[in-house]
Amino acid sequence: MGATIYVNGRITGEDEAVVPVLDHGFLFGEGVYEVMRTYGRKPFLYGRHMDRMRRSAAMIDLAVPFTAEYLLGEIEKTADRFYEAQGEAGAGMEMYVRVLLTRGVGAINYDVRSCPAPTVVIIVKPQVDPPAEAYEQGVRVILVPVVRNHPNSINPLIKSNNLLNNALAWQEAKRQGGFEAIMRNYRGEISECSQSNLFVVKDGRVTTPPLEAGLLAGITRAFVFECGESAAVPVREATLHDADLFGADEVFLTSTTREIVPIVRIDERTVGTGTPGPVTRQLLAEFRRRTPEGL
Ligand code: PMP
Repeated sequence: MGATIYVNGRITGEDEAVVPVLDHGFLFGEGVYEVMRTYGRKPFLYGRHMDRMRRSAAMIDLAVPFTAEYLLGEIEKTADRFYEAQGEAGAGMEMYVRVLLTRGVGAINYDVRSCPAPTVVIIVKPQVDPPAEAYEQGVRVILVPVVRNHPNSINPLIKSNNLLNNALAWQEAKRQGGFEAIMRNYRGEISECSQSNLFVVKDGRVTTPPLEAGLLAGITRAFVFECGESAAVPVREATLHDADLFGADEVFLTSTTREIVPIVRIDERTVGTGTPGPVTRQLLAEFRRRTPEGL
């Protein structure tokens, strides 16, 4: 994979990057994270990711020990080391940047006072885009029985390192040969995918479940609303059920590392015409036009 990793200021290759086992991130999954990707070697929508990290951390009473500006400097140092390590192979390569913030090392109990200092990790590795066929032909996803966390459990708004809910959903989809897993919430409404947000298109209108359905406030999800505005495609929030998915003209998913990926099959059922639809393609084109590379 060739990752370069920063752990509390120490930058190494992936084999040497370690976190103590008494870190509450490791012991209890107590931590938050962000995933960014670069365009032109700059993290896209960086400020928005940092705002979300601050909101996630506040929801678990974790103080963020850096400013956005300071962290950007540390990401740039890690990125420089990453490109050094890549050598010529790094030319034209974009980065996947994962920032983790955990409660830090403490006693083996839930008392936050035993953890004096949070742990900061930055993982930089090559950004690997979905294969071209995913955009050209669309993907198949699986509606899984794993239910998205109840907001009074681990609130999906927290971009938490405690990812078991998402991992179990994705693994179920993978077992069935799917690209992603769609999850419902505890009320049986559609919420989101294991690592992406979900949109349906019906009669030219684009709809995605509201945050109240219990889902992550995706940075790409919000950006798609802006792309809809600039491309004159109406995008709105509304509660969705299974029937809305199966009756849709088009369905697509969104995430930082995947942009907008058309969904053409759900389980064994074909969506719309079974090929990426015009609204999805229009939004993807608008999305790419608005990235720093597209400008
Ligand atoms: N939902 C979940 C559960 C995710 O893990 C992700 C990926 N971070 C997303 C949605 C998409 O969010 P973003 O557009 O901010 O990458």
